[in-house]
Amino acid sequence: MAKYNDSKCRLCRREGGKLFLKGDRCFTEKCAYDRRPYAPGQHGRIRKKMSDYAAQLREKQKVRRIYGVLERQFHTYFVKAEQAKGVTGSTLLIMLERRLDNVVYRLGFAASRQQARQLVRHGLFTLNGRKVNIPSQLVRVGDVLEVPEKKRKVLVLSGSQQVVARRGLPGWLDIDPAAFKGTVKTLPQREDIQTPINENLIVELYSK
Ligand code: SF4
Repeated sequence: MAKYNDSKCRLCRREGGKLFLKGDRCFTEKCAYDRRPYAPGQHGRIRKKMSDYAAQLREKQKVRRIYGVLERQFHTYFVKAEQAKGVTGSTLLIMLERRLDNVVYRLGFAASRQQARQLVRHGLFTLNGRKVNIPSQLVRVGDVLEVPEKKRKVLVLSGSQQVVARRGLPGWLDIDPAAFKGTVKTLPQREDIQTPINENLIVELYSK
């Protein structure tokens, strides 16, 4: 599978905003985007007027990078969102938000989505009492995510309560930190996704 191995901070600088790809570091003064808020490269400081296509492409890349989804998989999400009822752009974001690795991240069990994906792949979690290891699995209402007792010491938690306190727990999730347990109360709504994303640009891009 294709894997991006270059600097993650470079991606934030390329997309012109903080994508929070590096966990705790993103909240410190070491954040590369805070220090150099312009595109990487020799001509990064030069402001160029973006064409409509460039703006649409950048928005799609930004969302892909935030959720760590490859191009093909992202397109599959889009096709599914288009076929589903409702507003395509919002449905697309809601599907991405329902990914298991995102839920692990949102619950504060991992510092970043990438770490969450790795922990899921390593089989550290159970969903409704059954072991899961597919990061792209979509959660449903009432799903209960847990870390089995014998796996808890493997999980290097930077204190999920503190992590959640800093990021904020979305209203559609519930957490019991003492029991290493999170519950999906409802499906996420568009307004639960606070990251500044203009999903209409992505819809326009794929509608060409
Ligand atoms: Fe982006 Fe800053 Fe985090 Fe680096 S530290 S990934 S620039 S938000």
